[in-house]
Amino acid sequence: VMAWDASEEARAKLSPSPSGEGAGGWGSAERTSPEASISTGPTPTPPLNGRGLRIADPLATSIYGFEAVIVSPGVPLNKHPIAERARQAKVPVIGDIELFAQARKELPPHKVVGITGTNGKSTTTALVHHILKTAGVPAAMGGNIGLPILEQEPLPEGGVYVLELSSYQIDLTQSLDCEVAVLLNITPDHLDRYDGMDDYAASKARLFALQSQDHVAIIAAEDDYTRAIAGQVAGRKVIVSSTDVKDQSRWPSLQGPHNAQNAAAAVAVARALGVPDDRIAEGLATYPGLPHRMERVAEKGGVLFVNDSKATNPDSTAPALGAYPQIHWILGGLAKSDDLDACLPYIGHVKAAYTIGKAGPLFARLLAGKVPVTESRTLDQAVRDAAAAAQTGEVVLLSPACASFDQFRDYEARGDAFRAAVETL
Ligand code: ADP
Repeated sequence: VMAWDASEEARAKLSPSPSGEGAGGWGSAERTSPEASISTGPTPTPPLNGRGLRIADPLATSIYGFEAVIVSPGVPLNKHPIAERARQAKVPVIGDIELFAQARKELPPHKVVGITGTNGKSTTTALVHHILKTAGVPAAMGGNIGLPILEQEPLPEGGVYVLELSSYQIDLTQSLDCEVAVLLNITPDHLDRYDGMDDYAASKARLFALQSQDHVAIIAAEDDYTRAIAGQVAGRKVIVSSTDVKDQSRWPSLQGPHNAQNAAAAVAVARALGVPDDRIAEGLATYPGLPHRMERVAEKGGVLFVNDSKATNPDSTAPALGAYPQIHWILGGLAKSDDLDACLPYIGHVKAAYTIGKAGPLFARLLAGKVPVTESRTLDQAVRDAAAAAQTGEVVLLSPACASFDQFRDYEARGDAFRAAVETL
């Protein structure tokens, strides 16, 4: 096993000392491959690090002869040299979900639910997990949420693993056959890592291609891409829609049209797994919600403060604006797109906007003439500005439509900063 760690510290540990290992069996492969132009001479043997792994620099180490390259989902496969090298060397590139898929035959009989989509994955995953727990089904939640699945205790017989799957994680599995696979929606996001929307959509569609014919595909066919994929899926499929949901009034943590879509999908999953309807209803009514997603942080002076820091693009902010009628909207950060078009249908719900971060001036220009805009620059200032203007019955909403990295470590730090700012009011 060789692990590559891109940190300076790990690189400093690299030993250049040549050994017979690289010069032996792999030599011919290296000489006949394009790899030889980068890595000449014998492969150095990197030392063991503290965890018993050898730290390797992929630019200095041949990967010919390896069984697999295991990468973290954070590695952009369309850009990183290790992916190109693996392709040339015909070494499969896999991730932790594939390791889990390969280990399934060792586990007590169980089922896997895989949930993907551009938005709503975490909510739907946590909701399915909660409904299963409420119904007394042993369930674990992992993938792109919570504890990595390989770090979790195996479930007893009859258990259900509920996996949130980003498209990168799907790209990194070749054998995950979900008993129930779910696709929520496909809208532009993460396009820096794909060659356009079709490529991104194809990545999500693979989840169904990996399924056995008798397994269940659940698709919210509410956009052009998911509709097209629904048309291609053979075998057992269930089409769901946010319009299936007629009454959300009993669900404190599942408001707004986007949560109707998430709930419709979660209900279909639970039914596919045989959970009785009354247990499903109980799960929906008692679902506590996730932090940073439409999280009600406080009510002060009759004003509700809502933290939707997880909304990092205009498409995920749009439903948040749809959820309340009189909104003081805090937005901005590092823009993923240079328009707010997805949000404009709900602009009638916005009483005033407060911009922060790098995208602040751009968003102020885009919203000028539509709503009153204050360029607050920082989140703390925006909270003060919005709180000063908001009246009883109105909502101060942080739903930034942007990534956070210009001013915060991540969206969670941004949401925590919002909560702290609200507390100090
Ligand atoms: P993900 O895990 O896919 O990023 P989350 O469940 O964490 O999704 O929700 C992130 C944000 O996306 C939420 O704050 C909400 O504004 C928006 N959102 C949630 N569900 C949906 C949906 N089904 N369709 C569109 N937007 C959604």
